[in-house]
Order: sequence, then structure tokens, then C-alpha cells
Amino acid sequence: MSEREKCAKCESTRIMNDVRVVGNLSESLGIQVQKKPRAKVFKGTVGVNLKARVCATCGYTELYAVDLENLNQVHNRALAGELSLSESTEALSIEDRLHTVNNLLEKGLINESEHAAKRATILEEV
Ligand SMILES: [Zn+2]
Repeated sequence: MSEREKCAKCESTRIMNDVRVVGNLSESLGIQVQKKPRAKVFKGTVGVNLKARVCATCGYTELYAVDLENLNQVHNRALAGELSLSESTEALSIEDRLHTVNNLLEKGLINESEHAAKRATILEEV
């Protein structure tokens, strides 16, 4: 949750934190990440709730996901799974596969030499 004390819109300091966000009267609103986004079935969805930070003066509302660490790990593992799938099926374009490899490097899931090796593998097939 943000530590900022002022509203981003009107700079009021009257802020309500951790406000529950609801889609209807019974369920909280959330976000979801799929463990296997390319699977036809059993994508393995992991979700977390959203909490709101609401300005009590103008009503400006920011949304924050809670339990971020688990969600981020699932997201990263899904990204890694996407790479091995794309290497085996060649279902993705070269650009998409290079983009995926770059993402893995950015997220620290592979190191520079692994990145170079995967890039070379993809480019050899062109
Ligand atoms: Zn405000």
C-alpha cells in the first residue's frame, strides 16, 4: 500500500486506506494470473484481492493488489513455461519468442549467458 499521504489529484490529506473494492454486494473485486495461459483447459488461476485508497475530499480512488509476492511468482513461472512451450511448438513468432526471452532476463529468471544461448537458438531457426 502506498505511503503517500496526499491525494494524487487534489492534494488533500484526508485519505482512507485499505478500502474494500466490491464488484457486487457480496464479492470483493480482484485480479487473476494464469499458471498455464496457453493451456486449453486447467489454466490454473491464482487471484488476489484489490484494496482501494480513497481520497475523502474528491473521491479519487487508487487500486492496489494485495499478496503481491505470490502473484508475481506465479506470473514469472507462467512466463518461463511460455518459453519452453514456444521452443517446442514454434507456435509463436520469432519476435514474440525473443520478447519472452528478454522478459525472462529482465525478471532475473535467467542470466546473461542463458539469455544469449536462448536467443541464438531462436535465431538459428530463421
Ligand atoms: Zn482528492
